[in-house]
Amino acid sequence: MAISHHKVLILGSGAAGLTAAIYTSRAGLGPTLIHGMQPGGQMTITTDVENFPGFPDVIQGPWLMEQMQQQAENVGTVMIDNLIVEADLKQKPLKLKGDSGDIYTADSLIISTGAQAKWLGMESEQKYQGFGVSACATCDGFFYRAKIVAVVGGGNTAVEEALYLTNHASKVYLIHRRDELRAEKMLQDRLLANQKIEVLWNSVLEEVIGKEDGPMPEVTGMKVKNVQSDEITDIELSGIFIAIGHQPNTELFTDQLVMDEEGYLITKPDSTATDIAGVFAAGDVQDNKYRQAVTAAGTGCMAALEAEKYLAELAAADLAAAE
Ligand code: NDP
Repeated sequence: MAISHHKVLILGSGAAGLTAAIYTSRAGLGPTLIHGMQPGGQMTITTDVENFPGFPDVIQGPWLMEQMQQQAENVGTVMIDNLIVEADLKQKPLKLKGDSGDIYTADSLIISTGAQAKWLGMESEQKYQGFGVSACATCDGFFYRAKIVAVVGGGNTAVEEALYLTNHASKVYLIHRRDELRAEKMLQDRLLANQKIEVLWNSVLEEVIGKEDGPMPEVTGMKVKNVQSDEITDIELSGIFIAIGHQPNTELFTDQLVMDEEGYLITKPDSTATDIAGVFAAGDVQDNKYRQAVTAAGTGCMAALEAEKYLAELAAADLAAAE
């Protein structure tokens, strides 16, 4: 077990964490970034990105994150692979513990642990997770070449996943619980124009059907319920993608930092400061509204500048106390 002290610790390596790392490195603060379970964050499970400014041609999400990580390393960020399992933010220095047993203490902390996919919570969904039920079309879509699949949800993610899946699958159902999509208009237009996609409006996934007599469990169909007529339809297919939104990765900070009812960290207005001095939050962990890579990067920059100011004030106060 090792104990190390850091001026700036950054938790999470998505767009927010890596931007905070680039800025705090360039400010001479020598930050240490601890990767979580998904290095590179949610952008590593997307494919085409055409809305990150500066790239006139379509780029790939994982490539963009590799570039950001490289940039952070080039300016001096120290990267550590560890899963933080305990946090004590009620004392100074702030204290974190990794699952390796290593202890990290810090003068300031930038939390950019992001968010993760939500599940419907059905028993059959859980049973076939990894065997035909997935939350990431870009990770698993390839396995459904010339097969029939479904996507659940009506937001940008669901529509993007449905469109992406048409590259592989022979047919894609989009199951949405209302008669109107939440996704942006341009994506809706693409979805509705795609001959391979059929939208099942006012519908919910009732049950995942599968079989377990082969070498591995496998999805063979689904029951879909129309919420207006209560009619249940059986549909044969091979894969189901759940795309119903995300939940923030904030469990570590329960009872320590102020959160909203969904668990997103609450920061001060026009700031990334949390209610604990020296602790800042950036990216999707504190943003349930915009949730874009570019806004995550923006708040990562804000957190870095605010951490820099906080540390400068701390140093000035220490100096004054010593005189
Ligand atoms: P959203 O929260 O936007 O959408 C979730 C969808 O899932 C909604 O249509 C919702 O239905 C549905 N849903 C939620 N819970 C259930 C449930 N229990 N059963 C059935 N359906 C359910 O999440 P997304 O992941 O799509 O997007 C998150 C954010 O990321 C958004 O701000 C989005 O704009 C952004 N994003 C942007 C992209 C881009 O710009 N290229 C790509 C992907 C995401 P209902 O509509 O009825 O509430």
